[in-house]
Parts: sequence; C-alpha cells; structure tokens
Amino acid sequence: MAKPFLIFDLDDTLFDSEAAYAYSLKSIGIDPDSTEYQEARKMVKSRLGEGHVSARNRILYFKQMLDQRKQYSHSQVLDLMDKYETCLSEHIKNQWVMLGRKYLFQNRLKNIPKVIITNENLRTQVIKLNAIDPDGSLFPYVITSEEMGREKPHLALFQQAAEILGAEPKDGIMVGDSLENDIHPAIQLGMRAYLTTEFRNLGHHQDIPKEIQVVNRLQDLERLFHE
Ligand SMILES: [Mg+2]
Repeated sequence: MAKPFLIFDLDDTLFDSEAAYAYSLKSIGIDPDSTEYQEARKMVKSRLGEGHVSARNRILYFKQMLDQRKQYSHSQVLDLMDKYETCLSEHIKNQWVMLGRKYLFQNRLKNIPKVIITNENLRTQVIKLNAIDPDGSLFPYVITSEEMGREKPHLALFQQAAEILGAEPKDGIMVGDSLENDIHPAIQLGMRAYLTTEFRNLGHHQDIPKEIQVVNRLQDLERLFHE
C-alpha cells in the first residue's frame, strides 16, 4: 500500500484562530463585534464578491475602516496591520505551547508527510506558521488560496497538496474543522477525512453525517497512527 500523507487545514484546526483574531483586534483597539468593523468587513467582501481570495485580508478591512472614519493615511493602515500581526503571532505562539502540539507533531506524526492547505493570504498564514514552526521542520509545505487563485472547497488545493508530495490524492488523509471546505472535497477525491471539533461550539456541528469521522481533540490523531 502507498504511504499515506496528511493534509491539515490551518485555522481553527491546528489552533484557535477565532480567539487569536479577537484578541489581536481588541489589542489594537478594534472591537470585532462593533458595527464599524463589521461594516468595513462587509463592504470589502461585497465589493470583491463571493469566494474572492483577498476577501479575508485584514489590511483591506483596516483601510476601509479608516476610510469610513475619514482618518486614512498610509502610515496609519500600516501601523494597525503591523501591531495586529505582532499580536496574532504572540497569541498563536502561546496557544501552541498550551495545547502541547509540539509533542504531537514531533513524535507520533513526525514521519508522515504533511501539507497545509488554507483559505487566506500567504503573508498572514506565514506569520502564523512562523509563530509555531519557524524553521519549517514540522510543516514544510503550505498552499494558500491566494497562491491558487481559488478557495477550498475547490479541489485544486487538495490536488496540489498530493502533487507537491508526488502522491496520489487517494492516499491523503484530510484533517479540518469545516465539513464544506475540508471534509466533503477530500472525500470526493477518495481521501480519508477527519473533522475536528476542538475549537467549535458543538452547536455548529449538529448536522454531522454519521459516516463522518470526528476528532474531538487533535491529540487524538495519535491513536490513528498506532500500529
Ligand atoms: Mg478551518
């Protein structure tokens, strides 16, 4: 049998991105639930249209927000982004330690090839990955929607992951927190797939079909690779 490989989603799978975003926004004086921020976000998304690969980039929201306040300047938007990225990086670095992830990835899962596929811009994802794995020894491969010009659930990201490793998609094992973006497309390509529910309110997952395999904590993946 061909050697299996792992594909991981990044956000809300390897760490709690929602918490990191909320912390970082608050740290730079932005309430993520405020009408002001939500309106800026909505404006960016509606201008770009459904599924656009730049629609999650926070610098676009910050620029739009400053425009709305009539406070835009080049230095202001870069200053906000710079501080936001610093907070994001610190929060994720701390989470990684608290979650004990290093142990999981340096031991049981160490010798299984891994690729990360993620819907975000490359810069933001590299900042997050640099926080948890600066030398790329745990996760040498990352594929972003920005680079592919398409977002998951498009199969191109999954196929590219296999191609990078010179493997067949059917030998892939997908791990992610979204049924729609991670699990369904993986199954469509004949991969095994595990839905993670570690950082999500179970209410989001009321409709998990019975045949979908669920991993409540990422650490539970370890047992899958016991002989
Ligand atoms: Mg995710």
